Amino acid sequence: MILEISNLKKSYKQVNKELIVLDELNFSINEPKTIAILGKSGSGKSTFLSLLGGLDLPDTGDIKIANDSLLKKSEKELSLFRSKHIGIIFQEFHLLKNFTALENVMLPLEIFNDKDAMEKAKKALELVELNERADHFPHELSGGECQRVAIARAIVTEPNIILADEPSGNLDNETGDNVMNMIFELCKKINQTLILVTHDKELASKCDEIYELKNRKLERL
Ligand code: ADP
Ligand code: MG
Repeated sequence: MILEISNLKKSYKQVNKELIVLDELNFSINEPKTIAILGKSGSGKSTFLSLLGGLDLPDTGDIKIANDSLLKKSEKELSLFRSKHIGIIFQEFHLLKNFTALENVMLPLEIFNDKDAMEKAKKALELVELNERADHFPHELSGGECQRVAIARAIVTEPNIILADEPSGNLDNETGDNVMNMIFELCKKINQTLILVTHDKELASKCDEIYELKNRKLERL
C-alpha cells in the first residue's frame, strides 16, 4: 500500500466550541496514480493534506504511508520519514531565503548525507526547466519560479507520495495553473503518486481519480 487512511477524524477546538473538519474519512492508494481533490473553500482540503504530510495530528484514526504509521513516531523520526517519503508543495513556497535554488533543492538529500545530492538536485531543476537559475536566491526569482524550485525540492528524493495544495494569492491565476499543470505532467512522467488539491476542473479531469471533500469526507466523483 502506498497510502492507507482509516477512520480519520480532525477537529479544531475553540474556547467554547468544537469544529469537526474531517470525520470517519477512509481512503487508500495501492498503486502509483494521480488524484485530484476538489472542494469548497473551508471544506478541509488543506487540513487533510497537513495530516497526510505529518504536519498536524488527527484526533483519531490512522495514516499509513508505505505501510508505516505516521502517528507512532517521535518528532525526529517523523521529520526523517517526511524527508524521505513525502514531498510537499505548499501554498506558500517555504524556500530558505539565504540558500540558492540549487541549495534549496539539495536540502532534503543532505539530511541523509546523500553524496549525489548536487547531481540529483541539478537533474530535478532541469525537470522544472530552471537549470539556468540554479545560483539564484529566492528573491532573485519570480513567484512561479520559486514554486518550481519547491516542486524540484519535492520530487528530488523520489518520495512515495507528493502532496500539492493549490498555489494561493502569491501567484496570478495563469501562473498558478501553469505550476499545477507542471506538477501534474511531471508526476505522470515519472510515475509518481500525486495528491493534488485544485480548483481547476480541467486539470482534475486529467487525473486518474477525482474526489470532492464534502461533508467531512472524500467523495469519489
Ligand atoms: P480548505 O483548505 O478546504 O479551504 P481548511 O482545511 O483550510 O479548508 O479549513 C477547514 C476549516 O477548518 C475552515 O472552516 C477553517 O476555518 C478551519 N480551520 C483551519 N485551520 C484552523 C485552525 N488552526 N484553528 C481553527 N480552525 C481552523
Ligand atoms: Mg486550503
